[in-house]
Amino acid sequence: MQELLLTALPDAFGLENTNNRCFFNALLQGLLSCSSFTKTLAEVPSKKEYAAAILLANILNADDPAKLNKYVHQLHALVAHHLYKKSDDRHRATMFLRGQQCSAEAYTLLMDLLEVVPAIKNLFTHRKQHIYYCTKCDSAWSIVVENTNVFILEDNAPIQEQIIRYREKLDADCTCSKCNTKGTTEKIVKLKQVPEIMFMVSKKYVSPAETNAHMPPKELFIRSAHGGSMVYTIVAQILHKGNLDGGHYWTICQRRNGWYVINDDAVTALNEPAVSKMAYITIYHYTGRRLSSSP
Ligand SMILES: [Zn+2]
Repeated sequence: MQELLLTALPDAFGLENTNNRCFFNALLQGLLSCSSFTKTLAEVPSKKEYAAAILLANILNADDPAKLNKYVHQLHALVAHHLYKKSDDRHRATMFLRGQQCSAEAYTLLMDLLEVVPAIKNLFTHRKQHIYYCTKCDSAWSIVVENTNVFILEDNAPIQEQIIRYREKLDADCTCSKCNTKGTTEKIVKLKQVPEIMFMVSKKYVSPAETNAHMPPKELFIRSAHGGSMVYTIVAQILHKGNLDGGHYWTICQRRNGWYVINDDAVTALNEPAVSKMAYITIYHYTGRRLSSSP
């Protein structure tokens, strides 16, 4: 496990909002706040199939705004092309390239392109055990699922409770394979193995009635299989305002020498780390610290 290393983070830099790509800029700024990720990008070998990772490394190393803009544009186009190949929907891909899209969707698409680099895949891969049991015949079975996808925060329970062990709703038609009864199966998901980077997505359109959403804790404690807890910290949050017809994304994030609000090409330094309750996406990174017992 790679710990958070501030010296491996870039300096703060803004990104032009060409083609309404604030959603993409905000995502890149969030990911580039993860030192294990920026360190790994710097070491990616030059292979054709690693194009997305190489463009990200170029973004990190770009020494003038024109080059920076070119690499971000190329990466945005590469992700749009991937969306086209994946969905066979040219219209959707064109819309993606015109902007006003969703940062969380862009993350999933970008991860598809980055997962071919094993060292990058490892940084995001978590394992969850899906445990099913039947309340009628008491039989139980489980599978382990591995992916780099997002953690989706569904309700107002504290984040810790929502990711470590939670109940997941099953389709009412779900049938127990032992007793063949419909609707008696329940499912519990347990987090078994965590990566360096955890990308958590909350509900996007929070109504005023829901503003009792829990403040994401600055530090998250994940019990380790070897005993004790691993400590994670927030390195970036992506905020969103707007509605289904459009909106705007920006990022609060950590850089080599402090915390910033990065809103496309506007970069504002903060006096201290800021955590927002209203963030759409919160990114946690492993700190390297372990506690001998859970707090
Ligand atoms: Zn049963």
